[in-house]
Amino acid sequence: STKASLIVVSNRLPFVLIRNAKTQELERRASAGGLVTAVCPVVIKGSGLWVGWSGIHLEDPNEAIPESNPNDQTPTAGLKSDQVVSVNINAKIFDSYYNGCCNKIFWPLFHSMPGRANFGGEHWHDYVTVNKHFAVRTIEALEKCLAKNEGSDKSPPIVWIHDYHLMLAANWVREHAEEKNLPCRLAFFLHIPFPPWDIFRLLPWSDEILQGMLGCDLVGFHIQDYCLNFVDCCQRNLGCRVDRNNLLVEHGGRTVRIRPLPIGIPYERFVNLATTAPKVLKTSKMQIILGVDRLDYTKGLVHRLMAFEALLLKYPQHKEKVSLLQISVPSRTDVKEYRELKEEVDQLVGRINGRFTTANWAPIRYIYDYVSQDELAALYRDAAVCLVTPLRDGMNLVAKEFVACQINEVPGVLVISPFAGAGEMMHEALLCNPYEVNEAAEVIHRALTMPEDERVLRMARLRRREAECDVSHWMRCFLKAVGALEMDDVGTT
Ligand code: UDP
Repeated sequence: STKASLIVVSNRLPFVLIRNAKTQELERRASAGGLVTAVCPVVIKGSGLWVGWSGIHLEDPNEAIPESNPNDQTPTAGLKSDQVVSVNINAKIFDSYYNGCCNKIFWPLFHSMPGRANFGGEHWHDYVTVNKHFAVRTIEALEKCLAKNEGSDKSPPIVWIHDYHLMLAANWVREHAEEKNLPCRLAFFLHIPFPPWDIFRLLPWSDEILQGMLGCDLVGFHIQDYCLNFVDCCQRNLGCRVDRNNLLVEHGGRTVRIRPLPIGIPYERFVNLATTAPKVLKTSKMQIILGVDRLDYTKGLVHRLMAFEALLLKYPQHKEKVSLLQISVPSRTDVKEYRELKEEVDQLVGRINGRFTTANWAPIRYIYDYVSQDELAALYRDAAVCLVTPLRDGMNLVAKEFVACQINEVPGVLVISPFAGAGEMMHEALLCNPYEVNEAAEVIHRALTMPEDERVLRMARLRRREAECDVSHWMRCFLKAVGALEMDDVGTT
């Protein structure tokens, strides 16, 4: 069978570059996210490339990318420097594209919170500029890849563009590839929700964005709902002919395939972490309710804290028996909305603790910091309840990681919001609408008092699904969906 190389295009490379203060040399710092773990081996095995920003603005854009450190055991270690195409953009334009456009406009709007989006300024212009630049670098990567594969029996490379940072790039990649006669297959994956038409149409540049994404042969989303929203927008904004049943959109004489491809986690890795992680929580009789989120307004932290307060008021028997451990990871601290949210959450935690704390107990332990996944695994394992209650969330990996780490004989309970992508599949979790604060308190009470046999049954089913549909399964599903490919064509097993 023929094999294809995979060219991944994402805002960030799978590692960051740091300048060593002593030697002034660039060094790699590996990233260990689940996506990188699953995708990088496929890029490496198929002699593909990765196009993205290195996390550092280089004065000399031709400065060589260093090889990985010889002791590096992470998935990116095998990625040679000639497989990396770094994108360099003027720092001011990059900030306008990344914070101004991506984080301040697309993030709230795609999460159906248009009230938080601000369409003013030059940000869209800078978004266009950056996407064009990514397209130019991607074409260079494609040429390099084709030159390397010349004379081999490889089929055309797959160019896989990621996320809301790069929704326009595909169009120009296609244009240049056609002009230069460079064969390739183009795919896109959106890691956040795709909103319904009546929200999406609020964007002044909604047509351009749809056309950008339709530059691909395959467009993937986490769940069916996001696919249908996208198909709907193509029909109503652009007047495309669409096939809702088969998720097809006709555009520019081509048929674009739309597919739900729900991402998973590196399940085995979390089971292993949970098996070896030392205890963090002292297992007294205290039941721990766990929350783990980036400090983002989509995560529903304020609603969650209010629900916990309602629980203590309605069911005082939980006082001194239950404690909420909330981990909030600092995020986008250079955006005003995020600094304001931090203030609001700080105050609410302080007020609730001030109201209920006794000599021996505080209801909320609040950590405003990043926690390593080793430590998270211990918390996931020993928590009685995990609250995943976003107002809106593309998928939510915390829910899946919690389930993977539930290796204790007596498992805990997952509470999940139906407005997270993960909520669509995790049927055995307790559903909780975060906007209904009093009802949410009832659900938490039910979780805390659920009989053991019911917990065992629910958790076993949840775990089986996540074990099967892990992140490498997602990778294989993508390769299959991109078509004409057998799964082992790019060397995966
Ligand atoms: N995470 C982490 N340390 C923390 C909090 C979170 O490593 O202190 C990780 C967590 O394990 C998960 C990811 O960050 O893999 C969060 O992904 P999710 O999809 O839940 O939310 P996102 O932050 O992408 O919106």
